[in-house]
This record gives sequence, structure tokens and C-alpha cells, in this order.
Amino acid sequence: MRLSDLQTGETGYITRVSGHGGFRRRIMEMGFVRGQKVEVILNAPLKDPIKYSVMGYEVSLRRGEAAMIEVVTEAEAAAVVESTSGSSRGKGKSNGTSADDNRSIEKIVSSRRKRIEIALVGNPNSGKSSLYNALSGGHEHVGNYGGVTVEAKRGTFRHGGYEFVIYDLPGTYALSPYTPEELFVRHHLTEHIPDVIVNVVAASNLERNLYLTTELVDIAQDMVIALNMYDELTASGARLDAATLETLLGTPVVPVVARDGRRINNLLDAIIELYEGRNAAVRHIHINHGPVIEEAVAELRRTMTPDFDSFPKHFSRRYLLLKFLERDSEVEAQLAAACPRYAEWVPVRDTLVAKVEKELGEDIETAITDEKYGFIAGALRETFTPGKQERRSATAAIDAVVTHKLWGFPVFFFLMWVMFELTFKVGEYPMAWIESGVAWLGGLVGHVMAPGPLHDLLVDGIIGGVGSVIVFLPNILILFLCISFME
Ligand code: GDP
Ligand code: MG
Repeated sequence: MRLSDLQTGETGYITRVSGHGGFRRRIMEMGFVRGQKVEVILNAPLKDPIKYSVMGYEVSLRRGEAAMIEVVTEAEAAAVVESTSGSSRGKGKSNGTSADDNRSIEKIVSSRRKRIEIALVGNPNSGKSSLYNALSGGHEHVGNYGGVTVEAKRGTFRHGGYEFVIYDLPGTYALSPYTPEELFVRHHLTEHIPDVIVNVVAASNLERNLYLTTELVDIAQDMVIALNMYDELTASGARLDAATLETLLGTPVVPVVARDGRRINNLLDAIIELYEGRNAAVRHIHINHGPVIEEAVAELRRTMTPDFDSFPKHFSRRYLLLKFLERDSEVEAQLAAACPRYAEWVPVRDTLVAKVEKELGEDIETAITDEKYGFIAGALRETFTPGKQERRSATAAIDAVVTHKLWGFPVFFFLMWVMFELTFKVGEYPMAWIESGVAWLGGLVGHVMAPGPLHDLLVDGIIGGVGSVIVFLPNILILFLCISFME
């Protein structure tokens, strides 16, 4: 339950504070920390802010802020205790003592505390599903083609005394609102704010993969970088100074090999360290977008500062400011919904954007993207030494022929021909076996049963009917085998 859902007079125990880093720090400094008891002094419907009592003094929180805090109520705690141990304990003694209640709340708070939600975010083919499988023992589809449906897979596992809830999100190159995948990931990070984001970065293509990282750095939620495919990086003779990259990004960087699960324990340990706030190297960095854009951000910040309290709390303000400058439709809608003075900001923004675009000679989105790539290029210059010769991966070699603009066609028609030959010619053999099998079964049943309606139902209806369908089974199996092979 969220703290904002508690009514006047109710109490709850904090299990989790979510939102971007700066917000969480401030809220925790006010005393809203895990395990703490909070009482609602005044929560009138439609009333903002809400008044709470915590650690013996009164504090007001905005509804939007209180919605970022998860709590358990005594009633919820009692219900959980009932459902886990209710039947074994005597039913007559349903009224536990208050000491019992306290212990059960403690237990629930500490068990929630020991639960870490992580979300895997990364480019397509960076190895998210491989990592998901390695961590959760799942059987998520690993492959090279885009999924048909856009959804998150959820799995759980335990490590080092913690319960992990892990989400395998669709692959994205950025967090813009342009594709269903990108929108989905952004919604997930807004609505189920993970305790730790695991940014899966393919070490074989750092420059492009790190672009998404720069966007994730901007939103300022807790994050660990899983530097995946580390085997390919070392095999190509390239070298990466992960420690320096970690300093530059302010984010832990852990090399892993998701495919065979190597070093995955290091990743989990880094996640726990971060979750427990024990990693001193973590800091929030600002990627500098150059004087022109930074000046526009500063100007916008001056205009909007009086209303910062009403800003959404899931992503950092700087991120919201930047996206507002970029005319990101989603962020515009969120700000419009949360901030009463939104309408006054739009003309200010438009003037600033016009000025920036005139000075830079390109549209602001492109300019921001360029600056981000500039930051990445700088970071890689300091930390990355490319391999002696670029190792050409098997996929690239196959693609060079199979998707060649001329050779691709004969290859395609040849594969189609092979597929049809296999499906129909080779499929004929098992088809014949099934046909004779069905005929034999029909004959057998026909022999032992006296003619009549039941005989007809069995022989002509069921055996004949099912038989006429399953004769196609071999064709279908071969066809799908061929399709998955080509995929
Ligand atoms: P997703 O699109 O991010 O879910 O990526 P997948 O998990 O489907 O992986 C894409 C491809 O990368 C697959 O062919 C994997 O076998 C391969 N892959 C994943 N992890 C590693 C790794 O650590 N090393 C190497 N060499 N290949 C990997
Ligand atoms: Mg996948």
C-alpha cells in the first residue's frame, strides 16, 4: 500500500521509498526510512499536502511524494500472519497480543526490506534475456529478432539472503517516446520504480550501448551497469578500464558473461551493495550538454524552481527539464498534469528552444544527442583500447552473404526451395506412416465393434476426423523447424 492511501488516523510501517536519488535522500533525511512507523494526522480527500507524524514530530508531504512511499499497515501485517500460520495455530486464539503484532510487523518489514526489485534495461541483443535466464533459471527466448509482443517477463530468485524480483524488459536504444518498446520501458521505470536498474551493456558495441546509459544516468534512479559479453571483448584483444569508466559514469560497472553465467555473483553483490547504500563510489553525474543548451536548462530551471515541489518524483528534475526542452510529449503531459503553472512555461520553453536552435543551427533533440555521443566518445577515449584486429563475429560473416543486396536473393530463394522440399517431400514419409496407422486403428476398431451409431462415431468421426488432421502434423513440424532455423 502507498502512504498516500492511508486515511486520517491510520498508521503504517515504511517498507520502501522509491523515486529518483535526490528525492529519496531528502525524504529519508526527513525520517521516512524503512521500518519507521508513520501516522496520518490529516489526509482529507483532494487535500494536498498531507500531514504525518513520524519519529515523534509532524511533517507535511505532498500527495505525489507520499505516493512514492510504500507501507504495510497493521491490518495487512495481521492478514499475512494469518494466511501463513493461521491454520496451524489454534483458531480459538485469533486475537494475538500486541507484542505478537509488533513482531509480525517487524518480520514483514524486514522481509520486504530484504527484497530487491531489479529491471534489466538495455539495447536489443545486449544479452538481457540471457542474463535473465542465468539469474532466474528461466527459459526466456534468446535470439536475434525482435519480439512480437512488447512485455516484461518477471522472475524471482534468492542470493545472499535477499529475494530478488527481476524484470526482463524489451530492448531499447533510448528512452524517447517514439517506439512501443521505448514507451514500455519508460512506463515501467515510472510505475514500478525498481530498487536497482541493471543496465545491460554489450561490451562488443560500447558506443551505441552507452547512449542508453547516458539517458538512464539522467533519470537518476539507482543503477548498476552489467558489462556483458566480456568474453568477446577480451577475445578481440580490446581492453577496458572498467574502474575509470565507473568513476566517469558514477555508476558501478561489473563485467559479466551472461551466456554462461560467469561473474554473475559479482553483479549481484554490486546490486546488494548499492541497495544497502554501501557503495561510496556511486554519485549522480550531470552530462554536460555544452554552454548553449546548459544555459537554456538553467533559464528554464529559474522559471520553474518555485514549482519544483509539484514535479513528478520518479525521474530527476534535470531529466524532466531536458525532456521538456526536447518537447517530449510524455513529459509534457506529466508536467501538465502535475503542475498548475505549466501553461506559463510553454512559451518560455519555446523561446529558449528557438534561441538554442538558431545558435546551434540544428534542432535541439539532435544537439542533445550529439552532446551525449560526445560525452561517450570522451569517456571511451580515456578507458577503451580497441583490439588489434576487429574480430568478425560469425553473425556478421553470415549476414554479409545472406543479406547481401545481390546474393541475398538467390540465397533466399534457395532456402525457400529447401524449406518446401523438406516440408512436402520429406514430410510425405511420416504422412504415409500416420495415414496407414490411422487406417489400421480404424480397421481394428471397426472389426471388434458391431456396426451401429457408436461404431460410426468412433471410426468415421473420431478416428477418421482426428486422423485427417494429424496427417499434416509432420508438414507443420518441419515447416516450423525451418522457420525457427532461419530466424
Ligand atoms: P536480448 O535481446 O538483450 O534479450 O539479448 P539475448 O539474451 O537474446 O542475447 C542476444 C545474443 O547475444 C544471443 O545470441 C546470445 O547468445 C548472445 N550473448 C548473450 N550474452 C552473451 C555473452 O556474455 N557473451 C557472448 N559471446 N554472447 C552472448
Ligand atoms: Mg530478449
